Amino acid sequence: MGSLNTMDLHIIDETPDRLLEVTPDKLHQVLPGPTLLRIPGKKEPPLFICTLLHGDEPTGFLAVQQLLNHYCKQEKPLPRSIWLFLGNVAAARENVRHLPNQPDFNRIWKGGALPEHRLVEQLLAILKSNTPFAGIDIHNTSGQNPHYACVNKLDEAFINLGQLFSSMIVYFTRPEEVISRALAEFCTAITVESGQARDPFGVDHVLDFLEQCLALDSIPANANNPTEPRVYHSIARIEVPDNCRIGFGESCRETDFNFIENLESMNFVEQAENTLVGWRRNPDLKLAVVDEHGEDVSEGFISYTNGEIRLIRSVVPSMFTTFAPNVLDDCLGYLMQRYTLG
Ligand SMILES: [Zn+2]
Repeated sequence: MGSLNTMDLHIIDETPDRLLEVTPDKLHQVLPGPTLLRIPGKKEPPLFICTLLHGDEPTGFLAVQQLLNHYCKQEKPLPRSIWLFLGNVAAARENVRHLPNQPDFNRIWKGGALPEHRLVEQLLAILKSNTPFAGIDIHNTSGQNPHYACVNKLDEAFINLGQLFSSMIVYFTRPEEVISRALAEFCTAITVESGQARDPFGVDHVLDFLEQCLALDSIPANANNPTEPRVYHSIARIEVPDNCRIGFGESCRETDFNFIENLESMNFVEQAENTLVGWRRNPDLKLAVVDEHGEDVSEGFISYTNGEIRLIRSVVPSMFTTFAPNVLDDCLGYLMQRYTLG
């Protein structure tokens, strides 16, 4: 099973039996670490599926498991080969986004000096020389969000592939270090955000989407969905200062920032100018609103008056989360604008 170094890329051409039944927290008993499984099917090139880049986002893995079980039980070949990359197996064991000593596995795809960077460079090199049919990276969101697809290019093929999953499409170029952006250099690639981790509907929906992808002969040139996709452009993300204390609800004490209790209900809903987002308890600290160029654009988006944090302009939030560890490790969420396709 390859070298014992857990940060080497493992490549397996035979699906281990137990893979079809283990829960994500037991995956480490079956796979030695991040692994590419090459599963043959009737057609080439393979559909590349990536999941568990975040260890606490099991929906993609559970959906692929059902898919493989379905074909395995009926002793039918897959309609198309699948190359499946299972990412942070060690974090899945602990049901966390990543372990304290690891980088975020969806922020390592643009070069760097860590062993994890070398691992994903190996994988990207293999994928580049065997261009996949398409690339799909499957995630959950920690907050409540509708299911949506993300693209890093506004090409028709990307939008149409995304639309097979949802009529809601988010276009973003930052963070740059995500796998979908690396894949987009050489194949049609999207990220799917399949709601919260424990929602069984997410598994059914992803399974259905993967079945549709496997049945395609080509990525549709015209979307068969009669509804126009709603495309949002993610323009900025809100970050909290390192080591600050946050809470949710106005009455929460001993915090630097409190955010409104129902923050997550703002996701994908247009918020008017002057909408209340929370309260600043520590006047020495500021939230950072960072745009796609890495510039701090806070002053154009957020005001602090009488301790209240309000939106200066109308925006559509996404991925706003009340799960504090993710807010501190990554961000509070993103601000988007509706995008008109030209
Ligand atoms: Zn994720």
